[in-house]
Amino acid sequence: MVHDQIVLRTFRCIAVLAVSTLALIVPLWTVNIKGQQASTPPPPPSTIGPPTRADLLRGQYGRYRANNDLLFYHLDIRVDPDKKSIAGKNTIRFRMLADDTRIQLDLAANLNIDKVMLGATPLKYERDLDTVYVDFPSTLRSGREYTIDFHYSGLPQEQGRFGGMAFRTDGAGHPWITTACEDEGARVWWPNKDQWRDEVERMQISIAVPSDLMDISNGRFMGKTDLGDGYTRWDWLVQYPINNYSVSVNIARYEHFADKLDDLPLDFYVLPQNLEKAKRQFAQAKPMLEAFRSYFGEYPFEKDGFKLIEVPYSGMEHQSAVTYGNGFVNGYLDRDWTGIGISLKFDFIIVHESGHEWFGNAVSATDVSDMWIHEGWTTYLESLYVEKMFGHDEAIRYVNSYKPKVQNREPIITQRGIHRQPQQDMYFKGTLFLNTLRSVVNDDTTWWALVRDVYQQFKYRNIMTEDVVRFFNSRTARDWTPIFDQYLRRSAIPTLQLAFNEPGSMAYRWKTDERAFAMPVRIGRPGNWTIVEPTTDWKVMPTSLGKETMDVATDLYYINVEKS
Ligand SMILES: [Zn+2]
Repeated sequence: MVHDQIVLRTFRCIAVLAVSTLALIVPLWTVNIKGQQASTPPPPPSTIGPPTRADLLRGQYGRYRANNDLLFYHLDIRVDPDKKSIAGKNTIRFRMLADDTRIQLDLAANLNIDKVMLGATPLKYERDLDTVYVDFPSTLRSGREYTIDFHYSGLPQEQGRFGGMAFRTDGAGHPWITTACEDEGARVWWPNKDQWRDEVERMQISIAVPSDLMDISNGRFMGKTDLGDGYTRWDWLVQYPINNYSVSVNIARYEHFADKLDDLPLDFYVLPQNLEKAKRQFAQAKPMLEAFRSYFGEYPFEKDGFKLIEVPYSGMEHQSAVTYGNGFVNGYLDRDWTGIGISLKFDFIIVHESGHEWFGNAVSATDVSDMWIHEGWTTYLESLYVEKMFGHDEAIRYVNSYKPKVQNREPIITQRGIHRQPQQDMYFKGTLFLNTLRSVVNDDTTWWALVRDVYQQFKYRNIMTEDVVRFFNSRTARDWTPIFDQYLRRSAIPTLQLAFNEPGSMAYRWKTDERAFAMPVRIGRPGNWTIVEPTTDWKVMPTSLGKETMDVATDLYYINVEKS
């Protein structure tokens, strides 16, 4: 998902690196010159308000969700553009993980439940806001698989930034119907177990639309069937785990053109009037895919192919069916998004939303609280694309151009279990954090192997931040926990305190919330940095540099510097 640029203030950021005078920095000794910092209090509570009942129903992974494991959905619906209605069923197959008689599903309260069937047996159910508890007449047994058919119908309400489910028309007055519901939840247009932790292994999507329209959904196109009543059913097969919100229908009179990247099918669907523009702009898809493959390995959804589909909102990372509404021009909504000239060299939506195929779709967070795994990493992927296409220095400039957008008001990781979506720092601070980790690793061969292996280790899985930290700790000699905690679980970034009280020497330490925080940093003069290893205790080193001439590589680490 793209950040909501409307609420962001953007400033032009001009970094001027002062060239300091020549000096020799030799960290010969370190001593404690003051008492230890006082023990750090726990993080302050969030200033954001209490969860609603709906937040709790949506966010908790309680008994009736935890007692089953999703295996397969077959969403089979008919969409009526004139009535702006949908009707059909979702067939849900799951394995019980405990003996029980009830499971918890979700469907927006404004949509009708027509019936829920276990084979020929109608099931009772109870609705609570958007939650649907389905009850079984006898106990479902742990380890056994069950299949229910959830029949529903109604008029989905257009809502949210990208529409939820939106019934629009194209420039020629034909229906143009799209879904994008990460914020609202897939429940706004189809019944499912609407949470992040549990994904189906595979999914079939069958969408019947008037025969003069097409439906483009996720996965591999299996064919279309004329239903003989003016409608045609379009069948798609998703052959990988998929987030509920990633499931998408895109209905229009699209023009289709195709290409290939080695064996990977590339399919593009746009409104007829944009065909020529799209052929030019979507040529960026190949170098983008090649760039990400070079860092992480194969495209994650090879069997399903890669698609770009035109939509009336900015764009969304729908798995293997990335939706695009950036106007076929570079930048983000026709703007130099980062204000330093680099954004206009590529199509932001093609790069960002497709980057989510690796982080967001293949590697997914277990709870929305840890959504930086999607957005922080994918924003970092933007800079990896810039590095591949335009070089290392441009990539570092690109990452740093996100600094003015960071607010540092709330921790990136939010409270779990109440469906509390993180604030937008997860994008910009997330990518500055990852760029900082690269500088801490201080060896690009090691760094590129780490980021590749993070992806390879966790692809097709739902993980939490703790999994990423454990992985980093297991792969390097460093304990990364305090660094991750400071950047992701605290509001403030680390401050490097440099004190020049005695001529010829400097005292230095980190001022952080995490008492165990320790992170190397480059200081001295640009082009001839010295790496020091400050902790939260004072150390002293000799230096011929002074308060004015001592520089810190703040484009390589996202930190504050305080000199006294
Ligand atoms: Zn995103």
